[in-house]
Amino acid sequence: MSSGPIAHVHLSNIVANWRALGGLNPSSETGAVVKADGYGHGAAVVSGALAHAGCQTFFTAHAHEGAVVRKAVGGDAVIYVLNGPSAEDVPLYASAALRPVINSMAQLQVWKAAGLDMPIALKFDTGMNRLGLSARDMTDAAAAAKGLNIAHIMSHLACADEPDHEKNTYQLNVFRRIAQHFPDTPASLSNSAGCYLGPDYAFHLTRPGIALYGGGPRGPLDLKPGLTLTAPVLAVNNGAPGETIGYGATYRLAGARKLATVALGYADGLPRSASNSGFGVSEGVRCPIIGRVSMDLTILDVTDAIAHMSPGVRIEFIGAEADLREQAALSGTIGYELLTGLGPRVERIYG
Ligand SMILES: *Cc1c(COP(=O)(O)O)cnc(C)c1O
Repeated sequence: MSSGPIAHVHLSNIVANWRALGGLNPSSETGAVVKADGYGHGAAVVSGALAHAGCQTFFTAHAHEGAVVRKAVGGDAVIYVLNGPSAEDVPLYASAALRPVINSMAQLQVWKAAGLDMPIALKFDTGMNRLGLSARDMTDAAAAAKGLNIAHIMSHLACADEPDHEKNTYQLNVFRRIAQHFPDTPASLSNSAGCYLGPDYAFHLTRPGIALYGGGPRGPLDLKPGLTLTAPVLAVNNGAPGETIGYGATYRLAGARKLATVALGYADGLPRSASNSGFGVSEGVRCPIIGRVSMDLTILDVTDAIAHMSPGVRIEFIGAEADLREQAALSGTIGYELLTGLGPRVERIYG
């Protein structure tokens, strides 16, 4: 085991979260979004565990990510590549049996030119102006896609994490009109937050990502953390009143404090913006980050946890005790960015 930062990945929690999400919309299939290396948890291991639990449809952003998932899930599962095909990636689609998500007329042409007959998805933009065939060009797109093997249609919600946002019903209605042009084609609309919006949004398939890993908006489910991030204390020091902490001397001690220097820094994915704002937890005691987060090291005020503080003790930064959402918010970011930012130096241990 590493003497540095460790992410203990809780596969059984991820599977339990996937099942719980499925329970919200029991008449729809529940897929799994495992892009960005399974939101930092390890796409191969996570998708293998979910496939074993019965998940049949996976989503990645890139074809090369899809190829990794294919090795882990075997031949039967469906893998969609959300960012869509490029000419360079066509051989990978063929060899790993990936299904492209077609997001534009240009991607439609790329796929047609490839001459492959495997199933595809069409993604429509219903109001996010990010990626997807324009709902305005619906009839053109449907005509251009004639002869292709359209197995799925989808769109993506911009504001699902705000249940009362008017954009949700707007996008739902636009997507329903699109779906009428593809009456026998399965459809999906909902990311994690969309799974909480009720059965109207579930269609045939849901596409949760962050909720599998315990993050996203606080919905009706008691989601469990996908991983626990810990890092070891390297040194315990005494800080005297008036002394300053770390680079830039951005924190000054008001009184005598106990300090712990931990082997976790921004190179590992603890954002520099956690300086003077984030926290670690040791045996249930919350210890604030003081001073700047540096590349490999972070300093905590452990005065309230000194009874059990010594070099080698591991401090939790994300997990059951250190809530992902809260830790992220204190750094001005979101759980997605924290998880996907965990660096290669953080050892992943699976259990
Ligand atoms: C990333 C992504 C998802 C998953 O979103 P979460 O908010 O992580 O659940 C679903 N659909 C599409 C198109 C995505 O890009």
